[in-house]
Amino acid sequence: MPMPDFKTYDDNNIFAMILRGEIPNKTVYEDDFALAFHDINPQAPVHVLVIPKGKYISMADFTANADDAEIAGFMRAVGKTAEILDLPDPGYRLLANHGPHSHQEVPHLHVHIFGGKHVGPLLMRGWEGKIKMPNMD
Ligand code: 5GP
Repeated sequence: MPMPDFKTYDDNNIFAMILRGEIPNKTVYEDDFALAFHDINPQAPVHVLVIPKGKYISMADFTANADDAEIAGFMRAVGKTAEILDLPDPGYRLLANHGPHSHQEVPHLHVHIFGGKHVGPLLMRGWEGKIKMPNMD
């Protein structure tokens, strides 16, 4: 998948289409600020994405430009989604990719929620150069 440019919001990104109801999703939670739905390609027994309803490319865009109500509403939606999924005990991981170095593929802010098993150490091992990855400059 080609990497997005992260400079201007793309109204045709896949999550914008999901928000407009043009593509179906398996919704876990929705309110005025956020939509939470199951990832199409789960990386854990529970893998859910939480996205803001506003047009924000990434965490950097959101934290710089969203108003306080949007930020608070979005974070509460992340917490509520984890509760609905029964994850707080024994735990879960949150992850938000920003930009090419993180391998963000969809240019609409999303927080991944992973759970349902022990999800292992934080980052991929081998970053020192033993594993060759594309586009990591
Ligand atoms: P990123 O790499 O941008 O942080 O994560 C994008 C995520 O979106 C991936 O985990 C990918 O599986 C998920 N995804 C991509 N397209 C769709 C889709 O059409 N529906 C759903 N539910 N998830 C998608």
